[in-house]
Formats: sequence, structure tokens, C-alpha cells
Amino acid sequence: MADFGYSLTPSSRIDLNKADRETFGKLVKLEPDVLKCMACGSCTASCTAGVYTRTSIRSAILYLQNGREKEALEFIKGCMLCGKCTIVCPRAINTRQLVLSICKIYNLK
Ligand code: SF4
Ligand code: SF4
Repeated sequence: MADFGYSLTPSSRIDLNKADRETFGKLVKLEPDVLKCMACGSCTASCTAGVYTRTSIRSAILYLQNGREKEALEFIKGCMLCGKCTIVCPRAINTRQLVLSICKIYNLK
């Protein structure tokens, strides 16, 4: 192949037909409200822990929906369970409780 001086980056497209969403299904049974998330980011913007860590409920939900559990759990392990995100969520999702349920379902200590 001709050398054009650059190369294409690998696609980051997620094939949802291949993603394992079985555990996410268990989370939905326990916390049906997780499906109401519209990824607005208000929780992440208000998160105190997010200033010092990668904590982001928004990102965690998006990654869990795509079956990318390992990356998702990185976004909640810094959570201090303060509950600020629950106050600001426009969809009235109890995000603090959601974090506890994620820890339970995904065995995050
Ligand atoms: S504030 Fe609520 S709706 Fe917005 S991203 Fe966070 S959990 Fe989802
Ligand atoms: S409960 Fe966790 S994710 Fe929500 S604002 Fe507090 S530290 Fe951030």
C-alpha cells in the first residue's frame, strides 16, 4: 500500500450485537430508572469527586449500556456517595442509590 504519511485510527464503533449486556439487564431489573438517563451530564458537572478523580455517573451509565463494564466501573470507584448528583438529575434518577446497586451487581467493593 502507498505510504501517504499518515494512518487511519482504529474505529471506536461499538457493535451492540456483540456487546454482552446480560449484567446490565440485571441492573435494569434492580434499578429500572437507569433507562431514563438522557446523558445530559448534570450529575457529572455537579460531582465533587469528579474534580479529583474520573468519577462520572453519566459515563458509567453509557459504558454499562454498551457492555464495557471494566471501563464503566472506573467512573464510579471514586464516588463518595454524597448524593449531590441525585439532587440535580432532571430525570429524577436516584443516582446515589444507582451507584450502590452497580457496586452490588458488578461486585465492586
Ligand atoms: S443527571 Fe441524570 S439524566 Fe443526566 S446524565 Fe446524570 S443520570 Fe443521566
Ligand atoms: S454521589 Fe458520588 S457521583 Fe454523585 S455527586 Fe456524590 S461523589 Fe459524585
